[in-house]
Amino acid sequence: MRRYILICLLITVYYSGYGQEDMLCQGAFWTEAEGAKFMKETAERWTNVYSWQQRAGVIKRGIIKGSGWDKLPQSPGIPAAIVRSSKRMDGYIVENVAIESFPGFYVTGNIYRPAESDDMMPLVLCPHGHWNQPGDIGRWRSDMQKRCAMLARMGALVFAYDLVGYAESTQVSHHIPIAFTLQLYNGKRALDYLLSRDDIDSERVAITGASGGGTQSFMLTALDDRIKVSVPVVMVSAHFFGGCVCESGMPVHRAEKHQTNNVEIAGLAAPRPMLVISDGGDWTSNNPMVEIPYLKKIYDAYELPHLLNHAHFPAERHDYGFSKRAVMYNFLQKHLDLDVDGVLFDKDTGQFDESFIRLLPEDALRVFDAAYPRPADALEGDEEVIAAFSDLQE
Ligand SMILES: [Zn+2]
Repeated sequence: MRRYILICLLITVYYSGYGQEDMLCQGAFWTEAEGAKFMKETAERWTNVYSWQQRAGVIKRGIIKGSGWDKLPQSPGIPAAIVRSSKRMDGYIVENVAIESFPGFYVTGNIYRPAESDDMMPLVLCPHGHWNQPGDIGRWRSDMQKRCAMLARMGALVFAYDLVGYAESTQVSHHIPIAFTLQLYNGKRALDYLLSRDDIDSERVAITGASGGGTQSFMLTALDDRIKVSVPVVMVSAHFFGGCVCESGMPVHRAEKHQTNNVEIAGLAAPRPMLVISDGGDWTSNNPMVEIPYLKKIYDAYELPHLLNHAHFPAERHDYGFSKRAVMYNFLQKHLDLDVDGVLFDKDTGQFDESFIRLLPEDALRVFDAAYPRPADALEGDEEVIAAFSDLQE
């Protein structure tokens, strides 16, 4: 126990920088008024694409330094993957997958892909948010299964993966001190594996997720240029920084000489196509007036205003419900060249019809079970994972 506490302390000090704890910006760090004021004042600090790129560089370096990303191996090779239990559904296939992010740590998830595909497929990463009620957890939730199945039916290979400590990711707790960096690194390693396959078109790669999955979407897009299209959902906020250690547990928004927020971090996607989805019932309720005008200024500076899209649902709440999924389907259809003829439309409403999707029970989606256990070399517990993760660093 004493060794565990010592390792946690060392890791926390290592990542946050000694004496940097006051640099954390967590949860509702600002009021709505303070967030709006920051956007207005910061918009006046740069005037064109060159001065924005200069600022974008400072923001990106802030994330890299604050998270310890620069100490991780940048080209660690192609990770080993287990792909099993292929299930043929109505027009798509579901497989249970584990990717070995680093020796002894497994990123568990599901691949959804078209039942028939002769062409190279676009890729969509689907991280999930902090939904963790029994029977309604992470990648097993119905909204996750539906959007993954729909995109697969439209021709994409989709990877839905567990955030650390969720569902099958029981090697660690979610509130492990290194959650921010570990989770993003797992996303990078998933890309390393998926883009090594010869059936993926590396020019058509997207990411989408809601809430904490929205944070994963804009953070990984900011750090990894291999992502070409981004759809962060119900998360981009001027005043709210994410309430979990995996979103704001490291000093990535603030350093001695700069302050930023999640709007500017989402803006690092530019000039890549981005769709921001917001609603009236959470910290994205001001998007039309506060956050989107700032992002629009960035895309205008690139003279590519049409590559930023926004969908606001003032009567809706914090979720990735059908109406939000529908605008995402349209956006990804356009930017990933997906095939809408392969999906069903309701003749009366003209809307996407997800009724062909059959939800699978948790047990059918698990990679590991009693008959096929996790490999014997698997790390166990926060202490072992922290020690192995710190060994990766140069
Ligand atoms: Zn979290």
